[in-house]
Amino acid sequence: MSEHSGSQRRQLYINGQWRDAEGGAWFEVLDPSTNEVLGSVAKASAQDVNEAVAAARRAFESGPWHGMTGVERGAILRKVAAMILERLDALAELESRDVGKPITESKNVDIPHVAATFEFYANLAGVIEGETIPVGSGFLDYTVREPIGVIGAITPWNFPFVLAARKLAPALAAGNTVVFKPAQLAPLTTMGYGDLFHEAGLPPGVVNLVPGTGSEAGEALIQHPDVDKIAFTGSTEVGKHITTACCGIKRVQLEMGGKGPAIIFADADLSAAVNSVMFGAFLNQGETCCSATRLYVEESVYRKVTEMLIERTRKIKIGPPLDPATQMGPMISRGQLQVVEDYIKSGLDQGAKLLLGGARPDDEGLSRGNYILPTLFENVADDARIAREEIFGPVLAIFPFRQEEEVVARANDTLYGLSAGVFSNDVKRCHRIAGQLRAGTVWINVFNFVFAEAPYGGYKQSGLGRELGVRSIEEYTEVKNVVVDLSAEGFDWYGIS
Ligand code: NAP
Ligand code: MG
Repeated sequence: MSEHSGSQRRQLYINGQWRDAEGGAWFEVLDPSTNEVLGSVAKASAQDVNEAVAAARRAFESGPWHGMTGVERGAILRKVAAMILERLDALAELESRDVGKPITESKNVDIPHVAATFEFYANLAGVIEGETIPVGSGFLDYTVREPIGVIGAITPWNFPFVLAARKLAPALAAGNTVVFKPAQLAPLTTMGYGDLFHEAGLPPGVVNLVPGTGSEAGEALIQHPDVDKIAFTGSTEVGKHITTACCGIKRVQLEMGGKGPAIIFADADLSAAVNSVMFGAFLNQGETCCSATRLYVEESVYRKVTEMLIERTRKIKIGPPLDPATQMGPMISRGQLQVVEDYIKSGLDQGAKLLLGGARPDDEGLSRGNYILPTLFENVADDARIAREEIFGPVLAIFPFRQEEEVVARANDTLYGLSAGVFSNDVKRCHRIAGQLRAGTVWINVFNFVFAEAPYGGYKQSGLGRELGVRSIEEYTEVKNVVVDLSAEGFDWYGIS
């Protein structure tokens, strides 16, 4: 979609057809850089979700999808990957307009990652294999991996296109069908999957899109008895609610919040470490689950690193998402801007010292958008709210440390366990600490790099299960064990025949 093509209007996508919501309700999607209406999206009711689940069930049980080989499913996913690269510019623009993220990020990070994810699972679709298991003489034992069934997928607004791909690609490679509820705040590129799958020849009902509210469409999906698994990305609070709602009834996979620590030792390449921590803290305006949000710096270089950070962060170019020079865009909504401002206030109230930012930019041209300056704090108590709670904005708390053992304990002192980073040129120390950090991803001398090929997910309250990588196929398949009696005479326990 080009800048001049006006506002988007998106219907529900159910059983291969675009249609209005039952009851005809719509919701508006705002541009975070102006708070003007960017699009209108049909608002799925519980009844719409029920119909989508029924379509997904039919497609799973009896449609053409059911009879396809993995290689054939892979071919469709490969087409989708190619179409995404062909439309990279338009998709990047739409994602930037919807989320507020800089166009350089959408173009170079989000959209290419999605294409890589579809390509990766296209290649795996044909090699989902079972095992033969030695169980002793007289028996053949083998396993088969089968799709789970109907997957209910729910995502947040920060990396909408990316997070949808992490569910859709492995779920489809494995032969499942999907009912998808994107976040209200940024649903537009996710709705675009309807066009992509349609054109790639995905059979009707295999993917269904039901945008709407969490409390109605989302709730209808998680409560539905005919949904076999919920794959969720979002806050720990909603994730906990989903676990309770689905307990014992359906499978649940959760990707939730984080409070990632980064640790810089004095022997690190300090300039490179600072650059990586900035990418860790400010990518996507800090609205990133695996962000660097707590920076621990060895005391002897604390002042030097802090000054470098202030100098460089001050130069980050904040501006409209579609400007190629922009390096940081606005928060997703007025509400999220308010959340970040409240955290900044709580930091000040709890005695932290503001080193940089902490306010909206002066620039009059940006006043209609939800902009906030990148913000650095020091003198933060370990138990301050900004040290413990996920802010989901461009706010970094900096702490000095003395000892390795001490800093590992402080880094691990959190309910979350999604990501962590260590910066040092001591190879042994890096790997020693990587082994001690309780997080699903540990970066060494880098931050915020996620690959389609490698597993991603959280320890502790950051998640349940792993997305991406080869193992994600396991998350979207059931294992069936088959036992075969090989004996000529047959089994006779009672001996009375
Ligand atoms: P959220 O409030 O938990 O919402 C996530 C999704 O759940 C939205 O689509 C939301 O619908 C829906 N939802 C809300 N209540 C629901 C209910 N009762 N039943 C079913 N669905 C419901 O999260 P957010 O504020 O959008 O996103 C930010 C959070 O996502 C942060 O905590 C961040 O760390 C986390 N995140 C994690 C990862 C990861 O991979 N670990 C990646 C990105 C983000 P609405 O449209 O109504 O909001
Ligand atoms: Mg939006």
